[in-house]
Amino acid sequence: MNANDNLIKDKMDRRKFSRNMLLAGLTVPAINLTSFKNADQQGFYEEESKKLPVREFDVVIAGGGTAGVVAAIASARQGVKTALIEAKGYPGGTVVEGGTALHSFFNLWKAFPGVQKRQVVRGIPQEIIDRLLLVRGTSGHSEMLSNYDYDSVCTSIDTEMYKLVVFEMMSEAGVSIFVNSLVSGAVRKGSSIEGVIVQSRAGRELFKAKCFVDSTAYGDLAAYAGAAFVELNDQPVCNSMGIGNVDIDKLSDYLKSKNALGQLALGLRDGKEGQIVRMGSEGTGGPGTLFPVEFVDGMRKLGSGLITTTVHDNYMMFIKINYKMAVSPTNRDEVAKAELLIRQNQYKTIELFRKYLPGCEKAFIARTSPSLNIRRGRTITCDYDITSSDVLEGKHFEDDIMAYGFHDSAPRLKVKNGGTYGIPYKALRVKDIDNLLVAGMLITSNHDAHMSTRNTVSCMGQGQGAGTAAALCAAKNCGTRNLPYSELRQKLEKDGVYFES
Ligand SMILES: Cc1cc2nc3c(=O)[nH]c(=O)nc-3n(C[C@H](O)[C@H](O)[C@H](O)COP(=O)(O)OP(=O)(O)OC[C@H]3O[C@@H](n4cnc5c(N)ncnc54)[C@H](O)[C@@H]3O)c2cc1C
Repeated sequence: MNANDNLIKDKMDRRKFSRNMLLAGLTVPAINLTSFKNADQQGFYEEESKKLPVREFDVVIAGGGTAGVVAAIASARQGVKTALIEAKGYPGGTVVEGGTALHSFFNLWKAFPGVQKRQVVRGIPQEIIDRLLLVRGTSGHSEMLSNYDYDSVCTSIDTEMYKLVVFEMMSEAGVSIFVNSLVSGAVRKGSSIEGVIVQSRAGRELFKAKCFVDSTAYGDLAAYAGAAFVELNDQPVCNSMGIGNVDIDKLSDYLKSKNALGQLALGLRDGKEGQIVRMGSEGTGGPGTLFPVEFVDGMRKLGSGLITTTVHDNYMMFIKINYKMAVSPTNRDEVAKAELLIRQNQYKTIELFRKYLPGCEKAFIARTSPSLNIRRGRTITCDYDITSSDVLEGKHFEDDIMAYGFHDSAPRLKVKNGGTYGIPYKALRVKDIDNLLVAGMLITSNHDAHMSTRNTVSCMGQGQGAGTAAALCAAKNCGTRNLPYSELRQKLEKDGVYFES
């Protein structure tokens, strides 16, 4: 044998080895989570006191995600000096990392024959969709053709275009945008926050403001400022991946043949109308589906789902890999284990897709979230905690900042008669702190109520309410409880927010 023969043999052996490993399902060794252990804390170190540079604003928004970007735009448009502090290098948060069907701009009219179709979230959230349309970054508001007692409309987005569009919109509104900057502490003065500590490569700084919005999802700012909170740990965490090189139409034909095309919506895809933009089956092994048993078992073990959206011919915008942690995802060391485990499960999922799903033979992982996505971290105690009966009975309040009608547990739980409920201003005011509002997944402690309020379009609407209120408080130099509701309502209506009471 010459050197070349050796090389060929070596390649063949490696191929054979990989194939055998693949057949044995062993391409990724299982990790022993208990042996994955970070060193324990050993004592304390007392930091020297140090003078920090100070920046002053009217409003500081902590967290530039789903709610935070809308809050920042709303605040800056009121003409007050607004800063947004975002830990990552881009804005968008979970809306560009979790699921990408934005639930929901509309009431659930299709599930209630005779009920009128209404777009119940408008204002800045709708402006974002309008801007996405210009860059082929959304399917538009596409009606669901089946399973519409879950949602009547699917609005799919391109995650990368969303990041760009909201970045531009904040910049145009005059927001001072601090990305790659972490809110790492808060300075309290009596019942108010004086400033937040911001950590970046520039060092540590104090950002002062008259009013603050915590839209970090985890409630970091509120917790650092001493607000009360609960950590219910009632939801799995996830890392949601984008999958490239997929033949969407071939895959949907296969799902149909297996009685598994549960959700379906047609809309704009790569500039063409009437294309599949939402598809998939609720629970891969759901009743009546005809998938191979090995596929169903594999998906179940990996916590993988088979519902997706797309706005491109050859791309699945997200496939979720879920994992229920034993403790809250605010626990850094336990999260490290989950981050590794979920990435292994992503790889195993793509292997299953290649093997069992026609249209996915050459699929690959094109995007993952930079860190795992949470459905709930801390829930911050506010002046009012929205209940599940408020949501399901469609209650409106004397201080609504928006109307909303989607419930993620539908068809089991739905807002009465395809109507809406209101999110009240008092549900955004952090208890016992005079100048702090919250917006996003960190409100609403009740599980069933949270399954509605946490969804993207609700968070976006809350962002507009919180950002506008914070700006008005700053301009009037008043605390969040001294802002006359009539002024807030007038501004929100002027800025396109829709109300039902
Ligand atoms: C896996 C998954 C799938 C989902 N699927 C859907 C779906 O299909 N449709 C739907 O409508 N909803 C879905 N949801 C729910 C919805 O996406 C979220 O509840 C919502 O996007 C949360 O918005 P938010 O503004 O509260 O938080 P986020 O959008 O997560 O924003 C928080 C931002 O704060 C930043 N941040 C955090 N801490 C700090 C700090 N200390 N300093 C500075 N910045 C910080 C983060 O980087 C992030 O950008 C899903 C959620 C998950 C987790």
